[in-house]
Amino acid sequence: MIGAGVVGLAVARRLSQAGREVIVLEEAEGIGTITSSRNSEVIHAGIYYRAGSWMARFCVSGRHALYRYCRERGIPHRNCGKLIVAANPEETEKLQSIKAHAEANDVLDMQLLSGEAARALEPALACDAALLSPSTGIVDSHAYMLSLRGEAEEAGAAFAFHTPLLRAKAAGGMIEIDAGGKAPMTLQCRLLVNAAGLSATTVARGIDGMPLERIPPAYLAKGNYFSCSARAPFSRLIYPVPEPGGLGVHLTLDMAGQARFGPDVEWIEAIDYAVDPARAERFYPAIRKYWPGLPDRALMPSYSGIRPKIVPPAVATQDFLIQGPQDHGVEGLINLFGIESPGLTSSLAIADHVGAIAEI
Ligand SMILES: Cc1cc2nc3c(=O)[nH]c(=O)nc-3n(C[C@H](O)[C@H](O)[C@H](O)COP(=O)(O)OP(=O)(O)OC[C@H]3O[C@@H](n4cnc5c(N)ncnc54)[C@H](O)[C@@H]3O)c2cc1C
Repeated sequence: MIGAGVVGLAVARRLSQAGREVIVLEEAEGIGTITSSRNSEVIHAGIYYRAGSWMARFCVSGRHALYRYCRERGIPHRNCGKLIVAANPEETEKLQSIKAHAEANDVLDMQLLSGEAARALEPALACDAALLSPSTGIVDSHAYMLSLRGEAEEAGAAFAFHTPLLRAKAAGGMIEIDAGGKAPMTLQCRLLVNAAGLSATTVARGIDGMPLERIPPAYLAKGNYFSCSARAPFSRLIYPVPEPGGLGVHLTLDMAGQARFGPDVEWIEAIDYAVDPARAERFYPAIRKYWPGLPDRALMPSYSGIRPKIVPPAVATQDFLIQGPQDHGVEGLINLFGIESPGLTSSLAIADHVGAIAEI
């Protein structure tokens, strides 16, 4: 296994519990330090994804599996629900088509609310109407990842930190791996799962035998977050009606009830997590459409995460791209590309899918 983000951890747990001898190579110092700790920690319902896409399917089945997993192990999470709010009658018309789209994805519990009914739930809200998604929630992603790691280790998986995969070579049904770091080593394995997140395409290019034309291009779409010095008077997640190119500036809550706004979409050329304070100027008017009470100067630059895109900015949506030997011809290799949102929600479903490709 390459990568100990939330998806790599879920896969390591799945494979080790099925009796595979698993070693996870991770170049960072610990689990989940990259995209898996730079997201919104939302358990998505699966509303917007293209019907029939991997994202739509894994999000819905992954959500059910994640709620069950958290409930059974006491992992902090909250099924708080989310409101998609229409600012005017034109947007209210769109809510009906969002509901229909959700239903095509097997998200069957969405409820249309009048502005009044929405304000009965969230009195500080300004809106013409709203769509309630009761199955949306939030999770303590670090507690979840610690649990996945613990269960993988209990089933015999070993973790090697500070250990980047440098290159690999596939031949004769085996894959030979060169790992770097303080204790460089060469390993042989029958199955290599590339769950390297933002580096998945680079890792794939370093595998001798992997056909280059099967590796998708890589683009980076940063998402910036702002925190709020005022207490946000909401107990549900609040999203505007989506606009072309993004979900709009939305409000999510962490497990401590602290509000954060974002992520926005900023296409970048190289990895850089700094949040430009000037971007707040676009956040204020967008947030005040649904929360007129947002005080001046309340927004503070917080953190950012980077989406591992495999389609360029002009293409509105992408899907997860999970390749097994049937797709690229390399025996024993599984590549996970483009695992952006809803990758956290989908992690257990993706792990099952990888298990199915590995025939376990
Ligand atoms: C802004 C933002 C918001 C999001 N919000 C949500 C949300 O609310 N809900 C949701 O469901 N999803 C969300 N996501 C998506 C979710 O965070 C990701 O899909 C998920 O974290 C991906 O996990 P991963 O394990 O694939 O990748 P990562 O977490 O990036 O892990 C990859 C690991 O591979 C390691 N690695 C890389 N190269 C090598 C190498 N050569 N050798 C060894 N190790 C290597 C890295 O160090 C890293 O630890 C969001 C994503 C972003 C960017």
